[in-house]
Amino acid sequence: MAIKNFIGPSRRKFLARAIKATLGFGLLIAFLKRKDLMAESKKLYKIYSPREKHWVGDGFYVSTMFSMHDNENHYLSPFILLDHAAPMEFAPTDKKLGVGEHPHRGFETVTFAIQGKIDHRDSGGGGGTISSGGVQWMTAGSGVVHEEFHSKDFSQKGGVFEMVQLWVNLPAKDKMTTPRYQSMNKEDFPSLKLNEGKTELKIIAGEYHGKSGPALTHTPMNIFEVFHKSEGRLDLNFNEQTNTIIVQLKGNSKLADKTIKEGEIAVFERDGEQIQLNLDSDSHLLVLNGEPIDEPVAAYGPFVMNTRDEIRQAIDDFNAGKMGRLVEEAIKN
Ligand code: MN
Repeated sequence: MAIKNFIGPSRRKFLARAIKATLGFGLLIAFLKRKDLMAESKKLYKIYSPREKHWVGDGFYVSTMFSMHDNENHYLSPFILLDHAAPMEFAPTDKKLGVGEHPHRGFETVTFAIQGKIDHRDSGGGGGTISSGGVQWMTAGSGVVHEEFHSKDFSQKGGVFEMVQLWVNLPAKDKMTTPRYQSMNKEDFPSLKLNEGKTELKIIAGEYHGKSGPALTHTPMNIFEVFHKSEGRLDLNFNEQTNTIIVQLKGNSKLADKTIKEGEIAVFERDGEQIQLNLDSDSHLLVLNGEPIDEPVAAYGPFVMNTRDEIRQAIDDFNAGKMGRLVEEAIKN
């Protein structure tokens, strides 16, 4: 029996209309989604409290705000660790304050100089000084040995020092990539003025409202630094199935009925797209968002790989000098 006969002419008209209406509705939904009018909120997974501080070398008194060893890696990836050295006054000294020669393999270290100046040197040939507002993005890849110190001129004068170091994982295919060093100064970052100029959003990596940050990354991510002078709102919009972490370096933020207090981090679930924050006056935060790297993680100290065998190999290679050495003559200051 032909369908035509089975349905009959009036039913056919009704069906055609119904199909048209459904398609129209579908297009409307697609339009609203594109315009972000119907984006779903990202659900808060957890707020984590601050941890006790510890010294890294003799220059960085840090609080580990998150680490894949203590927090739920599923919601952190591709970010694996973040240390914050909160503002601290250092007396003038001729001593070199910081951490001497040590190796890394399989990930990236991203250092933010917030107050003060940091010197860096690595066996991949990367090195330099970053001042307040600058960021060093070191891809350890197959392996480097590096050192991180307060700069000589900063130490001699003394003053308030504040920094953040973030560790970003590399996907298995890039773990043994050639080391790379990106040094970026304050002026290199596009920054947006929001809330009638009261909020500054600085784009380190990724994109916000059509502007892109300069940092090159191995997987898609957004890293923003936000400074806020008086109360206001911050609207964030990210792809579904990405991980998001709000790092509250200073002041508080409100998220619906929850407060993210100074020193805390808020971790979100992967579903949904939007986050609306109400910022307190005088706050400073980092927004980290990225496509997760859902691969096994084997980590030991300064090495982050996929298997235990790769960790053993990293230790052997470091001991055999295959990650290079720092040459003393290279120190100019
Ligand atoms: Mn290091």
